[in-house]
Order: sequence, then structure tokens, then C-alpha cells
Amino acid sequence: MENIEFLVQGSAKEPYTVSVVNRGKRNLSAYCTCPAGENGLICKHRTRIFAGDTQGIVEGIENVPIAQEWFRGSDIEKALNGLSSIESNAKKAERVFKEMTQMLQDKIHENMTRNVNRPLDGIREKPIREYTEAAIRKVVTATHVKIAKRQIADAMMD
Ligand SMILES: [Zn+2]
Repeated sequence: MENIEFLVQGSAKEPYTVSVVNRGKRNLSAYCTCPAGENGLICKHRTRIFAGDTQGIVEGIENVPIAQEWFRGSDIEKALNGLSSIESNAKKAERVFKEMTQMLQDKIHENMTRNVNRPLDGIREKPIREYTEAAIRKVVTATHVKIAKRQIADAMMD
């Protein structure tokens, strides 16, 4: 088991300590003393180091390439890659959701101005179904992101 440490200046007066532990067989653990890290959440102090970003590092900067080398092909890298693909799906779903909401509003407005007696005529079938599907997708992906973040943070620290 090998261990490297970094001091990273964050928003607090005292720098945070980031520890990366290499347990072998591409099994890494990474800890950070920032509020997010202490609460078991993912933080930028660790992800930045793995990305080779030296921003805020006040001690241990020479160990960044080692952290990156350990990170490549590790369990943490796989987990973070999974997370970014889920996050990009969530963003897409969010976009679709906004478009569908807009479309529905336009349709309602259009129908109301055209026929006050049957204001919802024409939006009954497809748009409503798509709207609902988009809404469901949004909730599902948002939940996935939350769950994935939690699992990754847990995996990072075990
Ligand atoms: Zn942190």
C-alpha cells in the first residue's frame, strides 16, 4: 500500500489535505478534509488532482503525476467516467424537458386563441405523451446522478 498527500488551498483559511492511497490492483482510495469530503461527497480537490490540474495545490505538487498514473485504469477513473456519462444524459433530458414544456405551452396558447371552447384540442395525443416521457426521464436521470454520486463517493473512500 502506497500513500501520497497534497495540501490544497480552498475557500477555508487552512489548506485541505488530500490523501491518495494505492491499494494495488488499480484499487485507489482518495480522501479530502474539505466539508464535502468530510461529508462523504465528491469534491473538486480530488478530481482536479486526478485530472492533472494543479490549481490550489500548495504542497505535494510533484506528486500530481504519480496520482494521475495511479488513477489511469483505476476503479475511481471507471466510476467517474460512468458519472460523467450519466450527467450528460441528465443534461440532454433536461433540454428535452424544457423543449417539451415550451411546446406544450405554445400548443395550449395556440389552441386557446384559435378555439376558446376546446382549448386543449390538438394536444391530446403525441405532445402530451412525449411531455410525460420527458418528465419521467428527467426525474429518473436526476435520481441516477444523485445515486451515482453517492456510490462513487463511497467507493472513493473505501
Ligand atoms: Zn475536497
